[in-house]
Amino acid sequence: MYVCTKCGKLSEEQPTRREYHREVPGDSYETFVDNCKCGGEIEKAVKCAVCDDWYDEDSLTEGVCRYCLHHELTPENVESFVGTFEIEKCTFEINAALEYIFTSDEVNEILMRELKECLHTKKIMPSRLEDAMNTYLQDTWAEFLKEESKGE
Ligand SMILES: [Zn+2]
Ligand SMILES: [Zn+2]
Repeated sequence: MYVCTKCGKLSEEQPTRREYHREVPGDSYETFVDNCKCGGEIEKAVKCAVCDDWYDEDSLTEGVCRYCLHHELTPENVESFVGTFEIEKCTFEINAALEYIFTSDEVNEILMRELKECLHTKKIMPSRLEDAMNTYLQDTWAEFLKEESKGE
């Protein structure tokens, strides 16, 4: 399967055109790969690992399409992604008194509880969530969705 990188049109075969060499006797020609009617380039298509739709490979993140990365941003998915997936640890500035009182695990637990609450009440800024999933965590998020869809 082939797909236009501009308009997304699918085709079974890569369109080609022949250019005949008139100056050479006989049936001599060269075959060129044609562009889509819209002017976009036609590339080999690959299936999104989650929705099974065809896309050009460069538009996928770890094999997952943009639509799925965005559409699967449900409270349940985000919750289990943050809660169970292996995400690297980082440092964070926190009130020193709180740092003495709570352990890292407790802070994570509290924030996890708060995240759940925010996700279900939409209190959390959706743009910040989108940002996290679409930029900083994009690859891990895609891997997570891929794993999830395999499990079904
Ligand atoms: Zn096109
Ligand atoms: Zn998809």
